[in-house]
Amino acid sequence: MNAPRRVEPVDVHTVAAGAEALFRSTFGGTADGVWAAPGRVNLIGEHVDYAGGLVLPFALPYVTVVAARIRDDNRLHCVSTQSADPWQGPLSDVTPGRPTGWAAYVAGVVWALRQSGTVPAEAGFDVAVHSTVPVGAGLSSSAALECAFALAVADLLGLPTDTDGRRTLIAACIRAENEIVGASTGGMDQSVAMLARPGHALLLDCRGGDSRLVPLDFESAGAQLLVIDTNAPHRLVDGQYGTRRATIEKACAELGVHTLRDIRDVDGALASLASPESVRRVRHVLGEIRRVIEVADLLAQNRISDIGGVLTRSHLSLRNDYEVSSVELDCAVDAALDAGAWGARMTGGGFGGSAIALVPADRVGDVVAQVLDSAASAALPTPQFLSAAPSSAAHRL
Ligand code: ADP
Ligand code: MG
Repeated sequence: MNAPRRVEPVDVHTVAAGAEALFRSTFGGTADGVWAAPGRVNLIGEHVDYAGGLVLPFALPYVTVVAARIRDDNRLHCVSTQSADPWQGPLSDVTPGRPTGWAAYVAGVVWALRQSGTVPAEAGFDVAVHSTVPVGAGLSSSAALECAFALAVADLLGLPTDTDGRRTLIAACIRAENEIVGASTGGMDQSVAMLARPGHALLLDCRGGDSRLVPLDFESAGAQLLVIDTNAPHRLVDGQYGTRRATIEKACAELGVHTLRDIRDVDGALASLASPESVRRVRHVLGEIRRVIEVADLLAQNRISDIGGVLTRSHLSLRNDYEVSSVELDCAVDAALDAGAWGARMTGGGFGGSAIALVPADRVGDVVAQVLDSAASAALPTPQFLSAAPSSAAHRL
């Protein structure tokens, strides 16, 4: 069956009802509480997190909800409507590489909080998950799952959940994903899931972890930000990500800097790199950091339509210099621009996943039609379209 082409956000209480129903049918009784955390999209700042750069993501109105109940026998029992594999086992057995599969994202959060001594040895949890965040589309369903559960654990154990408390939870979620799941991730996804605010993007400095909110109101600017999930087939891209990181690390060593962010003389740095490939990679990173600052400045002046050109330049740099785009992403971006988008680019790590297009509200229908047409003419998978109003951070319902 074909997926629907436009996926409208579902009210968070409806998603919560799904998690609660799953909880009742799996575990019996009622949950102690219900917590939601959002997926995200990165407006700009791609492949700069590991270079100590700046990123500008915001939370989507698509959420992952966990219904959870505390136990006193050190066991985790978890089930999800998005997975055929429930998992249960003692939390004391959790270690890098165990469990495998989706339960690692859940168990890893408790493991990481235990490392810092904030979770009593006997604590365990029954957890039921239901989500409207597309899984594996580059919209960070993984961080939504970790953060919804981390907030649940914190609330159930009486840990702080103010901004400082959330920063501790962000660090635990990052460790869960890096060390227990074994996925390399910089921390942008968890930060925005925990710190986002409706009507704002989060300007996050990956060098020190500082962040600030930047107003982002597409509607009052007569615009829509379309998220285009290309539905591209999954590719083995771990190697590519690792190669890009290694190139950047090598360039830092060659240039004698800790991170590329520390470079002051951009032209001098590019001229002194030995390999043409390093020049292109570094040029992307340094240009992208400048583009994030440019977009944040334009947003501060509420010049939404003017960010379009910067988004498109970001895409060209990712495509030509960083070489992480794909035929599906290029097709979606080109079609959106042809049909009147102010700007468009791939978002996320690349090689598939999603693109975004900043579109005047009266051209949305044209852009959707053109993106669908272009994909069909090129015999590519049918994309689906999500709505992207900047939404709330993780919260208890
Ligand atoms: P993304 O975060 O971009 O969606 P990832 O590969 O980082 O893609 O994370 C996807 C993985 O996270 C899934 O394969 C699954 O293991 C886990 N996951 C995310 N959401 C859920 C969910 N609602 N239920 C079960 N597992 C989930
Ligand atoms: Mg992820």
